Amino acid sequence: MSRILIAEDEDRIARFIDKGLRANSFTTTVVRDGHSARDHALSGAFDLLVLDIGLPGLDGYAVLRDLREARNALPVIILTARDGVRDTVAGLEGGADDYMTKPFRFEELLARVRLRLRTAPGAVAEPTLLSIDGLSLDLRTRRAQTGDRTVDLSAREFALLELLLRHPGQVLSREQMLDHVWGFDFDPGSNVVDVYIRQLRRKIGADRITTVRGMGYRCG
Ligand code: CA
Repeated sequence: MSRILIAEDEDRIARFIDKGLRANSFTTTVVRDGHSARDHALSGAFDLLVLDIGLPGLDGYAVLRDLREARNALPVIILTARDGVRDTVAGLEGGADDYMTKPFRFEELLARVRLRLRTAPGAVAEPTLLSIDGLSLDLRTRRAQTGDRTVDLSAREFALLELLLRHPGQVLSREQMLDHVWGFDFDPGSNVVDVYIRQLRRKIGADRITTVRGMGYRCG
């Protein structure tokens, strides 16, 4: 199990990341200022750092610089505002492994987290195929297969089905799916999840996804 340090002072975003990573079986710790971020990162208790640039006390660049000066190779994913991209490129040169601009969808962050953990020294390989009862998703080719039929899915349909298949037999709420596939800036009252579930059912078979009244959806 990987331990992830989240350094983010904005409550809503910190909760969004924390909740999503926990739902995907990561162990998380949230810190809200740069000094705590640096101290926790240097403690050796974490496998990856998600680092906001605009932190109080010490900004993300200073945290990163201190880590690398201390010869600490902890993988770091920087979070930055859209208009800070130019600075972020400087951050990458300063030793970050990757960056994300806000707002972002959770699955984008998750993909980067998984990638960084996979390529880190001592990493354990992730499965590349998810399957339940003859329905399978190949995470490398991004293709779905049901029986011997290959199904074309859009990026969002794929992300939604991947989420369901990663939690077989578990009911996922609309909110979880919205957070994961669409991101934290999406209107929680939207029916987009239901629309996508309907599309998925049309493509992979209606009985693959079960509606659990008042709660959400389940696969497997
Ligand atoms: Ca901030």
